[in-house]
Amino acid sequence: MRQAAPQRAQQRLRRKPYIQQFFRGNRPLVALCLLIRLAIVAANLALSWGMQQLIDLAAGGSARFTLGQVAAMNGLLLASMVGVSALSYAVGPLLYRRAMGQYRDYAFRRITQKGVNAFAQESTATYLSALTSDAAAVENGYLKCLVDLPGQLLLFAGSFGLMLWYSLPLTLGAAALAALPLAASLLAGGRLAGRERALSDENERFLRMLKELLTGFSVIKSFGAEQAVFGIFARSNGQVQTAKCRRDRTRSAISNISSIAGAAAQLGIMLLGVWLALRSTGVTAGITIVFVQLMGMAIDPIQQIPQLWADRKAALTLIDKLAAALESQPQPGGAPAPTALRQGIRLENLSFCYTPGTPALQNLCCTFEAGKCYAIVGGSGSGKSTLLQLLTGGLRGYTGSLLYDGRQVSSFLPDSLFRLISVIQQSVFLFDGTLRDNLTLFSAVPDAQLAGAVQQAGLGALVAARGLDTACGEGGQNLSGGERQRVAIARSLLRQTPVLLADEATAALDAATSCEVTQALLDLEGVTRILVTHRLEETLLRQYDGILVLKNGRLAESGTFEALMAQKGYFYSLFTVAQ
Ligand code: ADP
Ligand code: MG
Repeated sequence: MRQAAPQRAQQRLRRKPYIQQFFRGNRPLVALCLLIRLAIVAANLALSWGMQQLIDLAAGGSARFTLGQVAAMNGLLLASMVGVSALSYAVGPLLYRRAMGQYRDYAFRRITQKGVNAFAQESTATYLSALTSDAAAVENGYLKCLVDLPGQLLLFAGSFGLMLWYSLPLTLGAAALAALPLAASLLAGGRLAGRERALSDENERFLRMLKELLTGFSVIKSFGAEQAVFGIFARSNGQVQTAKCRRDRTRSAISNISSIAGAAAQLGIMLLGVWLALRSTGVTAGITIVFVQLMGMAIDPIQQIPQLWADRKAALTLIDKLAAALESQPQPGGAPAPTALRQGIRLENLSFCYTPGTPALQNLCCTFEAGKCYAIVGGSGSGKSTLLQLLTGGLRGYTGSLLYDGRQVSSFLPDSLFRLISVIQQSVFLFDGTLRDNLTLFSAVPDAQLAGAVQQAGLGALVAARGLDTACGEGGQNLSGGERQRVAIARSLLRQTPVLLADEATAALDAATSCEVTQALLDLEGVTRILVTHRLEETLLRQYDGILVLKNGRLAESGTFEALMAQKGYFYSLFTVAQ
């Protein structure tokens, strides 16, 4: 289906910066590659002429040159082809390397520019496939086409011109015969773009599924669900292979149709040439033989060009897909969040619904004073995580007020709240690098400050034993769960954000380690901390400045541990059941 013109123009505009990555600083290289390709084609055409001269020399026709002259010219041509080919060996791959490197760098940089909240709502599989398999298809389709297409065009024009120069009637016959493969391939070519896009979509689904299954590996094993999981894998794998098979079939149909039609055309021209030669119309044996070769040279582009064009179109479709995913949505405006918290955080009649009509939080009113430490407790589904996400600015569209020092969270620029808050998640992001790099995330931190954060987060013993340059391993596998949480704490200390939020950060740890890590958080000074916790440990609970108890999205009770226990209400029953 053809798109409307404005839509196509918009698409071109959107893909432009991606296409520019191929050419940034590479224009001389592109020009050189083009020149090389054109030179090779020209040399090939000239060699055909040299061959014709040789054959007619042997046949005793009216040759203009001696054997020695023709041999010398052909030798020279061959030598220059060797030289140019050697140059192309050096230059071609270099162009691909630079162009694709820049393209992928650019795409990744755009990904990193996405807002945290926008990214959280997307599937990472889109980007995984865009930067791997799709990128390979883009290289093949777009970049290859850039050099191959002009080469093929010159080959066609050159061989066609030589043919005309040799004999008009033979050329007319050849043109009539060549119309067939051209029409056939052009018709089939349009289908390929659709097939390529379908394959990319399947690949993306496959990656998403694979990521999920591998992430849940231990759960799958512990439930003995290997067989069921294999079924899921096999189905998705089958779908990818089917999509690939369809793409390959379309590709092979295009090339088969072209080559059969090409062979028929070549045979036809041979017959016509012999017929003309027998009638002594000036067509010599040499011309007939070279004509078949030239015809082959002219037909090759006719077969290749539609394929190249279809590959190019398919590549552009993939670039468009990536560009659409990375298109920056109009960000809600606002002022930058403050970098310090002086009074505190206030909730006034705060309500939030994921789906209209069913509030996840209802009419919350409370104050978190700056520098103090609060716990949020409550049953599963009571709205603890929702409240924490609202505090990070991750959920918009709340009603009532959520105020940092009197300023609405919804009035802040997206992501700017991360200047004020650090969030500690249950799963800590760790990469395969040294402990130091994992702590600092590559920012320059004075050694004394780093040592202080390490001590405060309770990593002193680990650093004393293994040093800051110990390798964390892939995903931090060389560290224990408790150590990983402590890395997260140390990081937020290094960022020196005045507010620290944690959503069941220690839930995956054993009771003793969980207590130690939570104690490290309780001991921090000068930081406003709001910790969602499901472990009702008396020694810890006694240390909080306030405990908020949520029940079905409402604030059931709040106060210090002693006050809540004395009240003998909902918290009291939660606590006594837990003991
Ligand atoms: P808790 O953290 O206390 O277990 P949550 O804040 O995660 O509770 O959930 C509160 C309520 O909101 C639950 O009823 C839950 O089903 C619902 N909820 C949570 N996240 C979403 C979401 N992304 N979309 C729709 N409903 C959600
Ligand atoms: Mg939760």
